[in-house]
Amino acid sequence: MSLANGRTYLAIPGPSVVPDAVLRAMHRASPNIYEGELIDMMPGLKADLRRVARTEHHVAIYMGNGHAAWEAALSNVISQGDLVLVPSTGRFCEGWGEMAEALGASVELLDFGMKSPMDADAIEARLRADTEHKIQAVLAVHVDTSTSIKSDVAAVRAALDAAGHPALLMADCIASLGCDRFEMDAWGVDVMVTASQKGLMLTPGLGMVFFNDRAAEVRATMTRVSRYWDWTPRAHPEHFFQYFGGTAPTHHLYGLRVSLDMMMAEGMETIWTRHEKLASAIWGACEAWGQGGPLSLNVEKRAHRSFAVTALRLGGPDGTRLRRWSEHQAGVTLGIGLGMSEPDDPKGDGFLRIGHMGHVNAHMVLGTLASIQAGFDALDLPYGAGALDMAAKALAS
Ligand SMILES: *Cc1c(COP(=O)(O)O)cnc(C)c1O
Repeated sequence: MSLANGRTYLAIPGPSVVPDAVLRAMHRASPNIYEGELIDMMPGLKADLRRVARTEHHVAIYMGNGHAAWEAALSNVISQGDLVLVPSTGRFCEGWGEMAEALGASVELLDFGMKSPMDADAIEARLRADTEHKIQAVLAVHVDTSTSIKSDVAAVRAALDAAGHPALLMADCIASLGCDRFEMDAWGVDVMVTASQKGLMLTPGLGMVFFNDRAAEVRATMTRVSRYWDWTPRAHPEHFFQYFGGTAPTHHLYGLRVSLDMMMAEGMETIWTRHEKLASAIWGACEAWGQGGPLSLNVEKRAHRSFAVTALRLGGPDGTRLRRWSEHQAGVTLGIGLGMSEPDDPKGDGFLRIGHMGHVNAHMVLGTLASIQAGFDALDLPYGAGALDMAAKALAS
């Protein structure tokens, strides 16, 4: 017998839960792509995306996922042979760096390990040493989804300014946007990439690149930019999709309209506070379990943990056993450990992640936590007492 029949819950760090209202908006006949409602919708979508990213500047919308947005952003400002600095806190930082390398950039990794955030002082020291200003961009992943480490992007801007270095600050907010506080303009971010299937609560399929005028100036000096990735025409999607960009991502745009309506109604500050509160319930429970068992949070300090995802270690092979139990017996799918391994656990079966991004509320978090505890019991794994009480108290406070 399984207790998983009923509405299942995908609690992985993307794709996230798509609200029914978004799915309903996408379930419709194909619209006219040349004039009418779809084209008229574009200015409002852009304005609301800017509100989510806290920027007054430009946004280009691509059909593609986060990897597409990575490549799009790099293609507009990085030329063959350019040096880029990649402060790394996990697999996604490395991944964006590998993408830059594949495009012909020379990549320098500043490795901060898998447990702590970027150290702005170390970044500043590296930038100061670059007296000839060879570094063209710093690729800063706000939240690395593999480790759940959140770095201080504003501190990276401060490091650039203190060093008097002109490199572009490029941020990956694919996991964090709409979950963890992010303020593109106030934090001095020149380019930001995100995708539709995490905090934006949409199906995978849209990649977005935000860029300011400084980045646009760098783009203007490029000798060659891929026609598909060029962000200049895409910053005017009402013309781009109408005349020369090819078919618009029609149904995604209708879904995006509704997810942005939901976000505007809730308000960015409230969205961030909700994510913080839900995350604190998860952290409280995990810390309590860890008091009497092998479970541990990957990131020690709360200030360095993302509100969108929590990376955990249980020890091989119990991470995988717990994930399987919770999916097949409780209807909750937990995330795999990505890019994490140990000498006696090369495949990373001891690691797992809980996604808590986007359309997530208190009962979903409490249900997930209680299901995990039931899994510990079913699999005979030891754990500390009082975890569910801790979670309930965190939500009630
Ligand atoms: C999910 C994610 C990506 C990759 O996005 P895809 O849509 O899977 O290509 C990149 N960076 C971060 C931080 C992510 O969370």
